[in-house]
Amino acid sequence: MGQDCLMRITALAGGVGGARFLRGLRDALDADPVLAQSEITIIANTGDDITLFGLRVSPDVDTLLYTLGGGISERQGWGRDEDTRQVMGELAAYGVGPQWFGLGDKDLGTHIARSLWLGEGATPSEITTRLAQRWGLPERGLRLLPMSDQPVETHVIVTRPEGPEAIHFQQWWVGEGAATPAERFAAVGLDRAVAAPGVLDAIREADIVLLPPSNPIVSIGIILGVSGVRDALRGTPAPVVGVSPIISGKPVRGHADTCLEVVGVEASARGVAGLYADFLDGWLVDPQDAGQPAPAGVRWTPRAYDAPLLMGDRAGAARLARAALDLALEVGSATPAGVGGA
Ligand code: GDP
Ligand code: CA
Repeated sequence: MGQDCLMRITALAGGVGGARFLRGLRDALDADPVLAQSEITIIANTGDDITLFGLRVSPDVDTLLYTLGGGISERQGWGRDEDTRQVMGELAAYGVGPQWFGLGDKDLGTHIARSLWLGEGATPSEITTRLAQRWGLPERGLRLLPMSDQPVETHVIVTRPEGPEAIHFQQWWVGEGAATPAERFAAVGLDRAVAAPGVLDAIREADIVLLPPSNPIVSIGIILGVSGVRDALRGTPAPVVGVSPIISGKPVRGHADTCLEVVGVEASARGVAGLYADFLDGWLVDPQDAGQPAPAGVRWTPRAYDAPLLMGDRAGAARLARAALDLALEVGSATPAGVGGA
């Protein structure tokens, strides 16, 4: 590697876990005199997308935009900073629902713009580019791509006393706190979804591929279901390194353990690694999970982080992201293709 090294890093990401990790990664790169010019391409899950009040909402894309662009509510982890809920109040007064999905007034601006542009015929890729420009992502070496331009909506088949019912993932996750027993997930539209422009090339031509600690089923798992993505990950010469979203059997936040139970996968760092075993080259785990063996069929040993595998504040996220990057550089240099060789 030369003095100034432009590394192309590609990451798959859901919402809060992915966004915090990637903000940390950008910070870590910026602080590195050699790697500061590196670019991060983010492939975002759009399976959480939902139409509410006639507006198209793309929760994971928006969380990435706001977190990376400096407009996120740090307290919530999603939504705009210092937002109000006046419009939601007006809708409630008209008896218009659902009221379980809190859309702030500033946040609604994004959804209105997206819906307007969709109505004019723009694709989600084009719209994401426009939104990312407003948030200053290109100047910071951040490229945000939706996984697909075709609509995909994850649904959950829940068990009600009356029998099974298919509901939107957001209703189950946000509206029902993932507490209603679920039989399975159904990603509606995923079988017809093709990768958005640039997605497969970003994986194939990357120097490093990272999997942040995003939800393995409803964030990363959905992206992996887009035609061609999994094959690109298997085939890329770049090292693929992931960070466990599960520590000692528990998700740090959210209900990733419940999602794993639904699909019958052990809620553990090892269980999640097993879902990626066909393309993963390295796996960063919490020290408490250091004793767990690697999933079957892989040649590497999980690497224990030197502290709890928590992002905590922004500096903590940068430190954790740096550790994942270093692991990728290490395993990459051991492969014949190497890292950074264009
Ligand atoms: P969502 O779309 O907002 O649910 O966000 P993601 O799918 O990107 O990430 C959710 C996952 O991030 C959850 O499974 C969490 O366990 C994981 N997560 C969040 N914060 C941390 C953290 O500090 N450390 C680790 N290891 N995982 C985290
Ligand atoms: Ca999400």
